[in-house]
Amino acid sequence: MSNYNWCHNPSCHTIETQSRVRGTGDNKVLRTIKIKVGRYNYANDNTPNIWDYFCNQRCLFEFLNKFCVEIANTYSVKQPSETPIKVRTEKYESYRYRWSGNEHTREPYQATRKIIENSSWLLFDYKI
Ligand SMILES: [Zn+2]
Repeated sequence: MSNYNWCHNPSCHTIETQSRVRGTGDNKVLRTIKIKVGRYNYANDNTPNIWDYFCNQRCLFEFLNKFCVEIANTYSVKQPSETPIKVRTEKYESYRYRWSGNEHTREPYQATRKIIENSSWLLFDYKI
């Protein structure tokens, strides 16, 4: 048995596309898009997915723009979160360009950059 949702954008049915046209003869309508739940769930598990609720990015962002205050109030963030990290500073040779009046000259200089060590973002798991 397949499970379906209607696109959650309240204005989905006002967007003029051929895929939304329903009805016969002179009784045509634009209808909200019907979404098959799990259509992009390639892992075949029950992981929730935003595309189970919105037919496309336009509908998602129209929804977010319309309800952003309610969403922010429901899932409010009152203080910043922090992730402990280790940082190493590294010097490297970089270049800056100086305008001499008629041409740019490339000048090397010693620059520094911060490197976050043991960064776990590569292991980021989409399951929260
Ligand atoms: Zn939609």
